[in-house]
Formats: sequence, structure tokens, C-alpha cells
Amino acid sequence: MDSEQLREYGHKMVDFIADYYKSIENFPVLSQVQPGYLHELIPDSAPIHPDSIQHVFDGEILHLDIQNKILPGVTHWQSPNFFAYYPANSSIAGFIGEMLSSGQGGGVIQGTASEAVLVVLLAARDKFLGKFGKNALGKLVVYASDQTHSALQKACQIGGIHPENCRLLRTDSSTNYAISPAALSEAISTDVANGLIPFFLCATVGTTSSTAVDPLTDLAKITKSYGIWLHIDAAYAGSACICPEYRHYIDGVEEADSFNMNAHKWLLTNFDCSALWIKASQANLVVDYKDWQIPLGRRFRSLKLWMVLRLYGLENLQSYIRNHINLAKHFEDLVVQDSRFEMVTPRIFSLVCFRVLPSSKDEGLANKLNHELLNAVNSSGKAFMSHTVLSGKYVLRLAVGAPLTEERHVNLAWNVIQEKASALLSTT
Ligand code: PLP
Repeated sequence: MDSEQLREYGHKMVDFIADYYKSIENFPVLSQVQPGYLHELIPDSAPIHPDSIQHVFDGEILHLDIQNKILPGVTHWQSPNFFAYYPANSSIAGFIGEMLSSGQGGGVIQGTASEAVLVVLLAARDKFLGKFGKNALGKLVVYASDQTHSALQKACQIGGIHPENCRLLRTDSSTNYAISPAALSEAISTDVANGLIPFFLCATVGTTSSTAVDPLTDLAKITKSYGIWLHIDAAYAGSACICPEYRHYIDGVEEADSFNMNAHKWLLTNFDCSALWIKASQANLVVDYKDWQIPLGRRFRSLKLWMVLRLYGLENLQSYIRNHINLAKHFEDLVVQDSRFEMVTPRIFSLVCFRVLPSSKDEGLANKLNHELLNAVNSSGKAFMSHTVLSGKYVLRLAVGAPLTEERHVNLAWNVIQEKASALLSTT
């Protein structure tokens, strides 16, 4: 979508919101429908083909879906007739500000996959404490790899898990930085022998550092045999699994107790929107979502994800992902063709981990050189990359994923990298 479409859709949306505010008193202030009513009214899956905006606003979706299906389920917190609880104000100024804040700009990354892992860790902890008694807290052990996002450690800290009971299994290039099932089994056996209680494994599909994929099926066999809660963090790479050819990376997911992916990372959904799935028996008809999250109140995040699904359709979302992955492949080809560079880990999704090599095989020098190269590229203002450290190696990360990135941008980045590398290599 381009800026002209933003203008067109934005105007229509503002008109819709203005009309809604004008007539807000006409709605029954408290929703009149039964919880769960919407399930029957909306399709089970995202459309394959995109809906046209005309359709969305003037046709089926707005009139049938928003007007007839969604609005009846809304309790109108902004209605002048709302006197319940405490207010949750929004205002014209507020949502104009939100339109601005939802556009491109700066900001601070807030924890959302982080919230997901905290919530499920607390759920798993309480399940185990229910079984073993509250005094067992100091015996509960969490497993993950040394590549797992630090959000897990934060969750352990908040959840009162003893710092010594957080096992970050060492990974290396032999498994492309994925967890070794043998190492997990060994760690669990040792802990059990020492009277500890293994209770939680956080596996990752697409680690932050290098997109490593933990072997879910093998890990799930182990967690199942010990009754350990298996959480899958697919914050970034979960989006790629909407394409059939990448779906196999989450084979084994059916054995997981919880799964999380960030639609705000790579699925065109404005921050924040992190989808958490928890295996749970739905004994009650009404799921009380406040019990599945930390805050009581919640934003209507599903609406923007739903808009993305409807307006792009599965086919466009798949080609969006494939295009980024192809651009990353293209960049990988450029790296491979230049003998001064090497790929450090195999590229799986849209992240390329690579580095430039100094003439002598000195790892210290290689790290210094890559550090300087990154600084030189980033300070050029023409491209912005980040780095990671894998087995002591300073590695450059080029992650393709911005909605506006085209091949010319990737080529420009590569030109800058080559130019800065040439300058640095000539002085070493
Ligand atoms: N897990 C993985 C694999 C990530 O890559 C990230 C962020 O990059 C996170 C978790 C944390 O995500 P959030 O900012 O949504 O908490």
C-alpha cells in the first residue's frame, strides 16, 4: 500500500469514526450479545485474496462485519451513558495522536513476546506449585538455550525462579545454535537426580541472534516424558510459517503448551500485537481474558490484525514474507560472491549473518574489523545493521523486513558495506 492509499483509507476511516462518535448515544451502552457470539459470524481463517478497500468500507466488511457483527459486541466505554467501573478515556486529540504514533517514527521497543513468556511461565509455575506445594518454588528448573531471548530470564526473575535454576544450555555451530536434545536430556536427568523439579522449556523458532530453530519434535518428546511445559517463542519467524514451505519449522508445535509470535514484527501489524496461544481446556463457556494476561484492561489489538488479514489476504501476506526472504537470499549471494566475506550461519529466513575477514586469521582482529565496519556503515546514514556474537565471533546481522525495502535498498547497503570494508582492509 502506498501513501495515496493511506490518504484515501485514512479519510474513510476518520469519517467512520466521526459518524460513530456522532451517533454513539444511539447504541445500547452495554453490549447486548452473548459472549462468543462472534465466533459463529466470522470465517475461521484469513481470506486468501485481499478485500478491496471499497469493499471494506462501503460494502461487506464495514456494513456487515463492523456495523452488524462487531459493533453489537462492543460496550461503548466512550458513551456519555457509561457510568460503570472507572472510565477509560479516549478523545479526538488522543486518537489523532495515536494515528501519528502508529506511523513511522521513533520509540522504545516495549516487551510483548516478553509478556507472553512471563504469563506462560507463571501459569506453568502455578500448575507445578499446585502439584508439589508452594515450598517447591526453589526447586523448579527452567530450560532454554544460551540463544534464547533475555525476556525469559526476566520472566524467571519476576516469577521467583531461583537464578541458579535457569539452565541456558550451551549451543554452538555444530547445531547452528539450536538446542541439542541430548544436552537437554542430560541436564534434566542431572536435575532430577539432584532432587530438583524440571518444569519449563522455552524453545525458539528463529532466535534473535541468528534465527536458529530449536528441534521442536525431538524436544517435545523429552518435555512430554517429564511433563514439562513446552513454550515456543516464534516472535520473529512465526510470520514466515504462514507460507507452506516454511511451515515445517514449527512441526511439533502440536505438542506445545504455549506458542507465541509477534504480528508486529513481520506481519504488517502496527506495534503492539503479539499473538499468544495457550493449550487449555475450555471448561467454561466464557474465557476471562484478564486471567490470561497481566493487566486487567486490554486494547482492541485483534481489530488491527484482522484489518491486516482482510485487506492483504493470505496470498499477499505470503508474498510479502517471500519477497523479504528472496531479498535476503539475494544479499547472501552478494556476500558469498565476495571472497573477503563469509557467511557465519546458514540463512534460514530473512536474516543474513556474515562477517568480513582480515588477511591474517586472527579472531581478535576479525572482531575489531567487523566492529569498525558496522560503525562505519551505520554512521554513513545510508544503511543500519546490527551485530551479534556467536562462539566469540563478532557477526554482522542484516535483517530484511521493512515494508518498503526493495532490491535497490539491499544493493545500496551492500555497496556501502563493500566500500567501507575496502577502506578498512586497506589500513589493516
Ligand atoms: N523472542 C524473540 C525470538 C525475539 O527476537 C524478540 C525480540 O526481538 C523477543 C522475544 C522479544 O520481543 P518483544 O519485544 O515482543 O517482547
